[in-house]
Amino acid sequence: MTFTMSIGFQFYKRRFRQYGPLIIVMFIFFMGIFYLSASPDLQHPSFRKHLALNNAINKDILKLERKVKLLESTLKKHNIPESEYMEGLLPVIYVITPTHARPQQKAELTRLKNVFLHVPALHWILVEDSEQKTGLVKHFLESGGISFTHLNVPTPKDWKLGENQPVWQKPRGVLQRNAGLDWLRSNFEPPASRAVVYFADDDNTYSTELFQEMRWTKKVSVWPVALVGGVMVERPKVTLSGKVNGWLTGWKPDRAFATDMAGFGINLDLLVNNPEAEFSLDSQKGFMESDFLEKIVKLHELEPKADMCTKVYIWHTRTEKPNMKDEEKLRKEGRPTNRNIEV
Ligand code: UDP
Ligand code: MN
Repeated sequence: MTFTMSIGFQFYKRRFRQYGPLIIVMFIFFMGIFYLSASPDLQHPSFRKHLALNNAINKDILKLERKVKLLESTLKKHNIPESEYMEGLLPVIYVITPTHARPQQKAELTRLKNVFLHVPALHWILVEDSEQKTGLVKHFLESGGISFTHLNVPTPKDWKLGENQPVWQKPRGVLQRNAGLDWLRSNFEPPASRAVVYFADDDNTYSTELFQEMRWTKKVSVWPVALVGGVMVERPKVTLSGKVNGWLTGWKPDRAFATDMAGFGINLDLLVNNPEAEFSLDSQKGFMESDFLEKIVKLHELEPKADMCTKVYIWHTRTEKPNMKDEEKLRKEGRPTNRNIEV
């Protein structure tokens, strides 16, 4: 009996001597892993940080998912299409356009509208240079498709160009642009920063990319304008670090901001916070834009758009005056061709 017990004991003693250290090492190893994973205090600090962040984000995502579901059900309940809601998230582009009556007016406005219709969240402030709002512009705007404000203010007689006077002799559209600014200032209080203001004359050619470029303007965005100032293109000079430090222009390079009316977009807040910034009839010839911009921004603050001002998205086109020789004759005879038809 004692003999068999002693043989059994000897057997385990030998096995223990053989495998014992291995078992102990493995036991310590697994205990170590268990301890480390159970006790975050002992984990590597950067991993702990990562875990904490991950948990926080997961919680946020859950909260967001709940909010999105709530939003979806609200949109459904009120019958609002998702595209319309998305449009509501975009900063609005307020386009101020002075316009005056002449044979090609409706053609010019139609060209503009056809572009604006492709631009989401755009509000058109069309300002007639007239004593009264005209039926033509009223019908045109009310024909639908575009969000608009219709204003009018006449340019005083002394400031109107004579029939055959060259265009550079008097500034055009000044009081109309200011009327657009007044309308914005009386409708918005700061902070209204999720919006941009652009001055678009009615005869230029605008590409849709231009509006994508200007939408997120923080202060004042700038870009090249083609076919203006006697050159192919007038544009801001941009440094390698993306700062505007001057202008590439043929005409009057001494202007602080040597750009055309079509060459910049302004954050609405900047205009609301600077109520004295208006266009002036008294600006020296060709200095209207520069004088205006000097009141609200510094050169180094300008935001160059259109691929650092290397792309053209706006052309300062001018429309040829249509030949009305026979029309005038017929009008004198009391038989105008446009008696019962809006042209
Ligand atoms: N304009 C105006 N009243 C006028 C002449 C022009 O309101 O008596 C408007 C015109 O419709 C345009 C802007 O002012 O939207 C600039 O005029 P124009 O295109 O003739 O100027 P330019 O091309 O020479 O800069
Ligand atoms: Mn023009």
